[in-house]
Amino acid sequence: MAAVKNIADKIAEDYKDEIPIFVGVLNGAFMFVSDFLKFYPHPCEVSFVKLSSYSGLTSTGIVETLLDVPDNIDGRSVIILEDIIDTGRTLQELVHLFSNSNVKNFKIASLFFKSEVYNGEYVIDYFGMKIPDKFIVGYGLDYKEQGRNLRGVYQINQRTMINIVLFGKPGAGKGTQAGFLKEKYNLKHISTGDVFRYNIKNNTALGQLAKSYMDKGDLVPDEVTIDMLKDEVEKNPKASGFIFDGFPRTTAQAEALDNFLESKDMGIHATIALEANDQALIKRLLERGKESGRPDDQDEEKIRNRFEEYNQKTAPLKDFYSAQHKFHSVNGIGSIEEITQRLEDVIKNLT
Ligand code: AMP
Repeated sequence: MAAVKNIADKIAEDYKDEIPIFVGVLNGAFMFVSDFLKFYPHPCEVSFVKLSSYSGLTSTGIVETLLDVPDNIDGRSVIILEDIIDTGRTLQELVHLFSNSNVKNFKIASLFFKSEVYNGEYVIDYFGMKIPDKFIVGYGLDYKEQGRNLRGVYQINQRTMINIVLFGKPGAGKGTQAGFLKEKYNLKHISTGDVFRYNIKNNTALGQLAKSYMDKGDLVPDEVTIDMLKDEVEKNPKASGFIFDGFPRTTAQAEALDNFLESKDMGIHATIALEANDQALIKRLLERGKESGRPDDQDEEKIRNRFEEYNQKTAPLKDFYSAQHKFHSVNGIGSIEEITQRLEDVIKNLT
């Protein structure tokens, strides 16, 4: 409240000799405007504009006007009352909105100002408080449209998730390494191969469908795999991150994963490839097949078909993730501990 009064006092001093028009930016600024006006001691007019720019925690970049600039502002002093200014993108739209009018002067007042992330070109003439780049809610500000009615302002507890894709040919050691990483970083490990095998064992409809493909070493169709993966993520709403092992294996899966995670305000932080040559992998897989009894690990022909599927459908994902600057490659030959260490070195350097 002191911050609101402080802004009102400063503006009152600067505008005591005229009748300014205050323009509140809806919806977030309604409480601020209301309290501001109670502190403002001189004659003034009030109006509102409404833009829409946020969906969830991420700025969509889509700014539309829902309530336009007030009439008769030519020759008048306009002071925008914003609840919060962060990157300045919304502000730029606001300034643009007023660019066709002949105002006498145009000032910006914001209750909160994220000065660290602000990269706009306009001076913020009045602000109540500088705050760090944290998502806040309450006193008119919302999180997914809720929380505006809170009297105080609260920081949303944004969990710091890490989501990692483990990438590599069959036998590269993805499953083994995921087992260590999930403990170390408290992550949920999702192996699509394991989920399919679980369904085969329990003879579910999904298992019956997947079996015909898996036994030959072919990939299971995308629609089936993508839906299954989404279900697995949905089952773990409290996870502090995921290791995706064996998914995505096609570009369609990678795109679906990006879209799905984005819809949940999540994303992939890194895709880490375990690299090893075919000969070493075939040897490992045949060894593993003896113990596990997995049909697709016991026959060199099927193994070669899985490599072929990988080369054709999965290898292009290297470019997909490189374009997003998320692709990392790790030597997958060595002791298990050495390889774990290489993976941890990559994870340590993520943001
Ligand atoms: P894995 O245990 O990851 O080697 O997977 C064993 C088999 O499950 C694969 O050869 C495929 O038939 C099937 N599979 C696992 N993950 C996927 C996926 N993301 N897309 C399609 N098929 C998959």
